[in-house]
Order: sequence, then structure tokens, then C-alpha cells
Amino acid sequence: MQKHYFKDGLIGANWASDICLHVDADGLVTKVETGVIPPRGIVAHATVLPAMPNLHSHAFQRAFAGLAEFRTPGQSDFWSWRTAMYHFAAHMTPEAVEVIASALYIEMLKAGYSAVGEFHYLHNSHVDQALAMSDAIITAAEQTGIALTHLPVLYQTADFGGVPASKGQAPFLHADGEYDRLLKILKPRLKGRNKLGLCFHSLRAVPEEAFAPAIATMDSLDDSAPIHIHIAEQMREVEACVKSTGKRPVEWLLANQNVDARWCLIHATHVNEAEWRGIAERGAVVGLCPATEANLGDGIFPAAEFMAAGGRFGIGSDSHISIDPREELRLLEYGQRLTRQARTVLTGEGGGHTGEFLWAQAAKGGAQALGQPIGEIAVGKRADLIVLDRTCPTFAGASYAQVVDAFVFAGQPNPVSDVMVAGEWVVRAGKHAKEDEVFARYGELVGRIAAKMEGVE
Ligand SMILES: [Zn+2]
Repeated sequence: MQKHYFKDGLIGANWASDICLHVDADGLVTKVETGVIPPRGIVAHATVLPAMPNLHSHAFQRAFAGLAEFRTPGQSDFWSWRTAMYHFAAHMTPEAVEVIASALYIEMLKAGYSAVGEFHYLHNSHVDQALAMSDAIITAAEQTGIALTHLPVLYQTADFGGVPASKGQAPFLHADGEYDRLLKILKPRLKGRNKLGLCFHSLRAVPEEAFAPAIATMDSLDDSAPIHIHIAEQMREVEACVKSTGKRPVEWLLANQNVDARWCLIHATHVNEAEWRGIAERGAVVGLCPATEANLGDGIFPAAEFMAAGGRFGIGSDSHISIDPREELRLLEYGQRLTRQARTVLTGEGGGHTGEFLWAQAAKGGAQALGQPIGEIAVGKRADLIVLDRTCPTFAGASYAQVVDAFVFAGQPNPVSDVMVAGEWVVRAGKHAKEDEVFARYGELVGRIAAKMEGVE
């Protein structure tokens, strides 16, 4: 049993002072005391908040982030970005994935994320290679200390109507029966703070008849495991879905699958009112990745209406153009402000602190989407938390909820000083113990890949 002391922080939904958290050997909070002064010789940490779950990551894309910000003559949109990304994906080996994911997960921890949903579709075709790729992700999580919800992706077709996968999509596929085998082999490997979930790439990549057998296999292993899917990121896929099935993507999913609180709908960007109301009623989480969605020109999710209806959401860094939960939340709010010419939109008309509201809600929704006992500081939850450096000038004059508002909207540079996952400090005074070694390996590897790509193209 360990005791950790904090000057103040967000405990459950309320602010408290002079906090003492009791954490057991499994990293779970067993007792929360307030009004406790630490024993002589022990200095209390500053402000404590629940760490943020990152519900959507494609780790390898971190090494590609920022390298597609030029325009060649002709089309420039999500689909042209995807072609460039496929060229990059072709260079991924298990070693490359491990190095990139390790560097990425350290960046995430330093930014205040404690857990990641790895939407993993680089399988390289057959089960031994797929296993090596998954092992690379699991190793990266274990050596950096981030909690992992591993989501191996089912990917079968290029588009609606069973269009065969293209050459660039070959590394994403499985031969017959191999996806089931992969899930069964991976399940016992994911223990403790790591978890296995089910993942359909999208409606365009998974034919209708493939859903039920994959869900049956997952249920036989863990019938509470999360289920993720990319759902309606681009209008082109909405139109193709309507043409092929007569329904919009979310409409089709709600009508044909037992969508409930296990489901996480990534990029539910293009939804009509019946669709967003349907998601809210089923208790599913919407996975929003505002920095990536802005970078790729996806569109804006009707977040204000959805949240006012009690809809649940979490955030993800997806393509990793940004690895900062505060930037995701800011962009989420700012998208609403810009389209409505209004301020503090997402707290709703009842009022409240926008930064604190968004942090708390995204933490809870993200925890649900990852199937992890995190998202708030409370008895029975895992001790995944962050400490803010209150000497940062941005906090001058701020008290209680204003601290989180200032952190989310004005916290530059990053004021996260310490990060704990499952009761273990993984970031101390802004530094991860392995960052120097891992970032050096990362720089060398990405340099090598870039040189190879220049030679090819
Ligand atoms: Zn994605």
C-alpha cells in the first residue's frame, strides 16, 4: 500500500484540498482522504487531475506526421493523403513499429495521456507476421508504461460492395480464419493494465457478413471487450454507403448491429439528428480526433447537440499530427465557436467551466471506450493521474475549476510535471526515464526510412 499526497485536485466531480490517495499493489485507489497534511519530510504534489485516455491511435503514422503538408498539382484531400500514407506504411517492419510506438507512447505520457487504444491495422497478411506486429505494440506499451487497449483491425475490402483490397492495402489483410486465430492468441498476452478489444476498420473495409463471426469470437474470449469502428469520416464514404446499402453509415450500424456501451464510433463526423440521437440513446462513445479531423479536412461533428442530449465522447490523437489532449479539446470547442459565433458552447446553456467539463467528460468517455477502470480519481479506479506544475505563469490568479480551464485553453508550455499509471510514476519533473534512449533510436530509424523513400520515389 502506498500513500500519495497532493495539495488539491479533482476528486470524482469535485475539488478537494490536502488529498491523500491510498493505492494498492495492483495500482487501484482503495481510499481517498482529504484535509490530510503529509507527514514530516514528505512534500505534497501540486494539483492532481485524472489522466486522459487516448482512445484512437495508429502508432506508425506518428513518423509520417508533418511530412504530408505540401501540395502537388491536383487533388488534395483525405484520399490523396491516404495514398501517401500507404507508401509510408509499406516500410513498416515489427522493429520499426516498436521504435515508433515507444517514442510515441513516451510523448503521449508526457502530454498527460495514461492509456491508449491502438487501432492496429498493420498486419502484413498472415498470422505470424500479424503476431510480430502486435507484439511490437505490446512491447512498446510495456517498456514505456502506458496502459494499452490493443485493437487488432479486421480489414477485408477496399470499398462497399466487396471491392477487392488494393496493393497498398495488402499489409492490412488477413487470410481466412486468421483474424480469429490472432484474437485467440493475443487474449492471454494482454494482462494487467493491458486489454484486448475488437475492431472493424470501417463499413467500407468489412462486409456485413463478417461482423457476427468476429463478435462471436470476441465474446467467447471476453464479452465485455470494447468494439471500435471508423464510421463516417468523409462524405464520400457516406455517399458510397447510401448507394450500396440505402442507409447512411451510422444509420446502418444502429439498424444492423447491437450497438451499446461497448461500442466506440470513431469519427462519427457526418451524422444527422436521428443518427446522433441514436448513438446517445445506446450509450456508445463517439471517438473524436479534432486535430486529425481538422488536418485531413474531414468536417465538424455536431458536438453541442450531441452533448446536450447526454452523448458520451472521448478524444484520440489518431494520425498524431498533435499529441496533446488540450489541443484536441480546444479544437473541439473552437470548431463549435467558429461555426456558431458564440463562446463556451459545449458546457451547454446551463453554464459551467468549459475546460474542466471537457477534461472530465473526455476522461470518462475515453475510459469507457478503452474498457479500462480509469477516467476519474475515485475509490475502485486505477491510479492514472497527472500533476500540474502550478508555478507555470498560466495559472497565476486561477483557482479550482479555473485551473483546468487555464490548463486546457492557455497552458503553454506543457504544465504537466508528473504522470502516474497504475500507481507507478512514469513521468517525473517532465521527463520519462527512457526518453533519451528511445528518441535517439527513433530519430535514427525514421531518418533511414525517409532516405529509403527518397530513393524509391
Ligand atoms: Zn483512425
